[in-house]
Amino acid sequence: MNKELSITLANTIDRMSDRSIKFTMMPDTNYWFLGLPKKLKPRQLKSYWLSQEELDWLNQQEGRPISDTEWEKYCSELGDLGDYAPIRIVGSGKRGRQRKHLGQIPDLYRQFAKIDNGLDLLDFIKKYGPLTDEKGGDDAENLLDQAKEMRHLIARADKFKRPQPASISDLKATVSLNARTRVIEQTILPQTLLQALWLQFIYTPVGAGKLLKCKYCDEEFWAGVGTHRRADAKFCSHKHQVLFNSLKRSNPQLEKRK
Ligand SMILES: [Zn+2]
Repeated sequence: MNKELSITLANTIDRMSDRSIKFTMMPDTNYWFLGLPKKLKPRQLKSYWLSQEELDWLNQQEGRPISDTEWEKYCSELGDLGDYAPIRIVGSGKRGRQRKHLGQIPDLYRQFAKIDNGLDLLDFIKKYGPLTDEKGGDDAENLLDQAKEMRHLIARADKFKRPQPASISDLKATVSLNARTRVIEQTILPQTLLQALWLQFIYTPVGAGKLLKCKYCDEEFWAGVGTHRRADAKFCSHKHQVLFNSLKRSNPQLEKRK
C-alpha cells in the first residue's frame, strides 16, 4: 500500500498537538436531494433543533414553559417534516476530480456551522463531499441540526471565552509507544467528514489567535494565544521548520526569494 493511499483510507489525524487533522475529502461529480417534498424549496429546509437560548426566549415570551403542542407548532414553522421519510442528499457515485485535505482548511468547521438551510448544505457537500457514511445518503435535517448546534456552541465559546462541551463517539484510534522518545503517540481516525469537523471544533483552542500559512507545506494553522504556535510563527510545526531550514541549506535560492 502506498503512503498516499493509506492516508486516504485511514483519514489520519496525526500530530494532534498541532491540530493538523488529516482527512481527505473526495466529493462525487454531483449531488442532489432525495425525498424533498415538492412544496419545499431547498432554501426553505431548516433545522428544527431548539437551542437553549431559543427555548428560554420562547418561555420568556409566554411567561411560562411552553407546552409540547406549542413546541411542535414552532418546529413545524421551522420546516419540521417529521412525518416524512428523511430528506437525503445523495451523490452521483462518480468520483469528482477535486480532492481536498482538511488540513488545508483548519476553519472548515466554521463554514459548516454557518449553514442554516438545505441549499447551503447541498453546496457544502458538492464542494467537500458527503458528511456521513450513511448508505442512503446524508440526512439533511440531521446535518442542519448539527450545524446549528455547532453554531450555537461557537457563539457561546466566543461570548464566554470558554470551551464548550462536545463529544464525538465511534472514532477509531491507534496508540503506539515510541521506545526512543518514550512518548505514547495517539492517533485518532475520524471515519466521516462530520466527525472530522467536530474534531476541528474541539481541537481549535477558544480564542485561537489567527490563521497563518506555513512556509514549508503551505497549509494554514492556528497561531497565537491559546495555541501551540506563537503569533509570529512561520511554520505549522517544529518539524516543518527543521525541514524548511535543511531545504534552505541545500537550496540557497529559497532564502533570497522571500
Ligand atoms: Zn507545515
